[in-house]
Amino acid sequence: MRSNPAVPCAVSIRELPMDSNVIPIVELEQVSKTFGKASGDGALERIAQRLHLTHKRSMTHAVDRVDLRIRRGEVVGLVGESGCGKSTLGRMVAGLMPASSGRVLIDGTPLDDLSAAARQAARLKIQMIFQDPSASLNPRLRVDRIVGEGARLQGLTDSAGFDDYVSAQLQRAGLNPSLRQRYPHQFSGGQRQRIGIARALAVQPQLLVCDESVAALDVSIQAQILNLFMDLRDELGLTYLFISHDLGVVEHLCDRVVVMYLGRVVESAPVEELFGAANHPYTQALLAQIPRFDVRSTRYDAIKGEIPSPLNPPGGCHFHPRCPHAMARCREQAPTLREVAPNHLSACHLNDHP
Ligand code: SF4
Repeated sequence: MRSNPAVPCAVSIRELPMDSNVIPIVELEQVSKTFGKASGDGALERIAQRLHLTHKRSMTHAVDRVDLRIRRGEVVGLVGESGCGKSTLGRMVAGLMPASSGRVLIDGTPLDDLSAAARQAARLKIQMIFQDPSASLNPRLRVDRIVGEGARLQGLTDSAGFDDYVSAQLQRAGLNPSLRQRYPHQFSGGQRQRIGIARALAVQPQLLVCDESVAALDVSIQAQILNLFMDLRDELGLTYLFISHDLGVVEHLCDRVVVMYLGRVVESAPVEELFGAANHPYTQALLAQIPRFDVRSTRYDAIKGEIPSPLNPPGGCHFHPRCPHAMARCREQAPTLREVAPNHLSACHLNDHP
């Protein structure tokens, strides 16, 4: 579905329905996340502000009206600089953070329409793998409880089968089950990440949200964990939302890539299309920053300037202060996503010119 060009200030980010008959495992409809509180505009508040008796509080739009569909079995990469909102979006997909507005649908059903029990069951289908495995594991619990307790609470195993169940999850994540009685601090960083993966697998998820899940690991360990993710995809039919700043990893792993800038999606395309024919100037700048071994390449060109504060984002196209192609219109009007090639969306006014 194309974005609606009749709504000039809205960045509508509807993913293209490659097969509209297939219900996405997760769908976000115009989902936003704001932090902070708008300052009041009452007379008392204005007087208090003039007398410097109160601070003007601002809203941060961490995620701004994002539409996203993740189809079963897909590996979707979500990329952008730090502070672009990709982790916040991932947490909303995983159900760890409520959306401020918009709808989240799981298997075609809006979460708000479900009973509390059904909502929890739906949420179990989506698990998150965090960047820092040390911070996400309870240091006071032994590994068997970390991995198996959630599954036991959900009735996926009982006391009699608990040990076997935990052993199977540890093995699946590439850990020796004989280490089950140890504490997290007795493992290496890569092993702790495998514990986090085993914990996620124990509740039988269908989608894993991986938030910079290998960024804190040594390069050789990164490759092992990435291979594990892909083996699990084949073995269990898992779907992934893979959040990363490492475009090399994304190019290697993902089927489709979504690019975010200051809370908005600016481009979305199949991975070969995005890396071969990026349309949006921000995506082109991101790709130009990837180190290449080809010394004849003339594409190396770092992005100019810093990413602006989400507390006070530039008007119009958020990217305009850093964009080499910015026009007067870019300062006033936010571009909408348009189809620039099959299954390829981009939000840039340059696409409006013949
Ligand atoms: Fe650059 Fe304008 Fe396109 Fe934004 S809309 S990326 S400022 S050309």
